[in-house]
Amino acid sequence: MATCTGCSLLCEDIEAALENGALSHVKNLCRKGHGHFQAAFTERTVPMIDGQQVDLDRAIAKAAEILRNARSPLLYGWSNSTLEAQAAGIKLAEKLGATIDDTSSFCQGILMERILSGKIPTCTLDDVRNYADTSIFWGSDPSSSHPRHLSRFSYYPRGEKRQKSYEEERTCIAVDVRKSATAKLCSNYYFRVAPGGDGEFLEAILAVLDGKIPRVGDKKKMIEFGSILKKTEWGAIFPGLGMIYSLQDKMELFERLLAKLNEITTFKVIPMVGHYNMRGFNELMREKTGFINRVSFKGGARAHGPEHSVVAAARTCDAALVIGSDPLSALPFGTARALARLPLIAIDPRRSMTTDAAKVVIPSALSGLEAGGTAARMDGVRIKFEPIIDTQLLSDEQIITRIMEAI
Ligand code: SF4
Repeated sequence: MATCTGCSLLCEDIEAALENGALSHVKNLCRKGHGHFQAAFTERTVPMIDGQQVDLDRAIAKAAEILRNARSPLLYGWSNSTLEAQAAGIKLAEKLGATIDDTSSFCQGILMERILSGKIPTCTLDDVRNYADTSIFWGSDPSSSHPRHLSRFSYYPRGEKRQKSYEEERTCIAVDVRKSATAKLCSNYYFRVAPGGDGEFLEAILAVLDGKIPRVGDKKKMIEFGSILKKTEWGAIFPGLGMIYSLQDKMELFERLLAKLNEITTFKVIPMVGHYNMRGFNELMREKTGFINRVSFKGGARAHGPEHSVVAAARTCDAALVIGSDPLSALPFGTARALARLPLIAIDPRRSMTTDAAKVVIPSALSGLEAGGTAARMDGVRIKFEPIIDTQLLSDEQIITRIMEAI
């Protein structure tokens, strides 16, 4: 059995057979996971310095030299690496006095911090399968981003307390700015929010739960929504980036909603984390530093704040190591341009805009297929996996350890 690292569901029931170096038969892999595994056979990276292919030892030695000579290095990425690699990365950051940050810095971090500190109640996906009669996809679209979410956990499966079919025992609600693929599945319970209007929507629900008439939105629909929430026995909310980006500094409203709902019934929250081990990085960082991301170890100290986010640090650091991430295509243009001007070290199994612009490229094994390790699923459950393909490629953890030894 293989584990798919195509998203943070980390499906562990993947059967995959290989023939002549390609996937010949797969079972239980969704279309996204299939693309993720299939891509392991195309566009692979090779060790490079300044665009010239070199042997691996030279690429590692050059990466170590760049980091050793940097005054303010940035170590970024990490959400597509195993816990073992992340732990090695945090040690490397401490040793270098570097800034370390991950993709949660500009996506789910603002919510994950509240989950990990206990401000917002959470649960496991297995609890959702066993007990949930209402699931709310808020600014998230699992049918596209986590294709097996509904079938394994939130809508279609039978669970310990939910033995009847999904139409009878489970209600799915989509709150979104558009009728997404998931919203079409929950078509009776699609609630449209205006772009950037999640704060107003939350205030309207809070009003309804307090027995007041909401001042904004479709009053009839909001009252219907409030009534479903009140009748719920055990509910789960799955916030996606749509909600996070819209709420930003109004996240306190979401905390208030959860507090209110839990006075009436039971409601839990699981952030719809995209990358397969973003939550693992946040948990490890919190354990080791007290913060989930954006930490600088400069001068042996431990500083945290927006000035140590990748967006700010890209402009102030003098070298960067990027692992399992493609910030040059994913981050705002100004940040991407600032990173591209630096001596950049990219560790990745596959080519990307970032590896193409990097001074040093170090190829790595693809986790789940070619490298084993441990990762935290979106609900925090730790999943251990073994590789199913033999490879000469080093894992992320081995590469970081080799760089650290060379420094
Ligand atoms: S749902 Fe996610 S982890 Fe599961 S098979 Fe699809 S991509 Fe892979």
